[in-house]
Amino acid sequence: MASISLQNVTKRFGDVTVVEDLDLELEHGQFTVLVGPSGCGKTTTLRMIAGLEETSGGRILVGDVDVTGLEPKDRDIAMVFQNYALYGHLSVRRNIGFPLKARGVAKEEIDLRVTEVAESLSLTHLLERLPGQLSGGQQQRVAIGRAIIRQPKAFLFDEPLSNLDAKLRLEMRTELLRLQRQLGVTAVFVTHDQEEAMTLSDKVVVMRDGRVAQQGTPASVYAEPADTFVAAFVGSPTMNLLPGEVADGVFRSATPGLVLPTEGMVPGPVILGLRPEDALLTPGGSDGTIDLVELLGPRAIVRVRCAEIALTTVVEGSALAGITEGATVGVQARPGSLHAFDPDTQQRR
Ligand code: ATP
Repeated sequence: MASISLQNVTKRFGDVTVVEDLDLELEHGQFTVLVGPSGCGKTTTLRMIAGLEETSGGRILVGDVDVTGLEPKDRDIAMVFQNYALYGHLSVRRNIGFPLKARGVAKEEIDLRVTEVAESLSLTHLLERLPGQLSGGQQQRVAIGRAIIRQPKAFLFDEPLSNLDAKLRLEMRTELLRLQRQLGVTAVFVTHDQEEAMTLSDKVVVMRDGRVAQQGTPASVYAEPADTFVAAFVGSPTMNLLPGEVADGVFRSATPGLVLPTEGMVPGPVILGLRPEDALLTPGGSDGTIDLVELLGPRAIVRVRCAEIALTTVVEGSALAGITEGATVGVQARPGSLHAFDPDTQQRR
């Protein structure tokens, strides 16, 4: 397995630049997820790594080999697509074995490897079926099997779970991670779903308009978002971002409604970030009124109106007592949980 390195990689379609000066180090054996809103250049980046799209500038290295000018087949990288791209007229066995057959590997060797791969993906009982006779999740595993069997240097996944229903998606997510750990492969995964990105990745790369907005471990990106874009993109429900002013150790929202103590925050104009799970509600207080309670099993998303501000909060477990629509509540921030962003640059302070 190899690391992948992108150095000043740029992609232009005509005079439109869709990926600009991208520098990325995707480490050996790690699961990296590229995430960002639609059109930010994730798929284009993945396709450039695979060699399916030419770069307009910069270099791509796999291990220490410069693959920038190489054909996809010479890069030794496997890609699993959203639509699986299985051969409908071939059995699961022949679909999985296809890459080896194309390379002229002996039949006995192919049979052996297909058996191994099918076992690792729980596909043994389905080997003689056609793709059309499989569920979405099973087709997905066949597509992964076909990628694994080549023992490539790295795997690229382009939104491979997006066609699955919610439950299967969760199962396949776990499955994919287990498999990646077991094989110790370098994997790059593209999704627009931040939750998927945060749960799957060793390293998450948040992209915006063809550039990296922030990269790091999911925990570090969540704890210290680099700017208001990342702050709003990562985490669900979305972080509350409130323009206002800090003076005398207190934050006052620009739109009347919220006053919070701010330990050690620089005085002056600010955009204050408060994650819904860090807003603490006290029944009977007088800072706001509960507008809406959306119960999600043991936790609830609670919308609180504080004068002219609509605040999103998350309340869990025993703290849900007294949290009913129409009730008045006190609002506090969990100590040390506030984020401060510069109103001009939108960057974290
Ligand atoms: P999504 O999540 O919607 O798939 P993405 O982040 O993967 O989005 P890309 O598919 O990489 O985004 O596209 C980035 C930008 O490049 C988009 O604005 C898209 O319209 C543009 N683009 C992609 N392929 C081409 C092409 N062949 N010709 C012209 N523009 C293209």
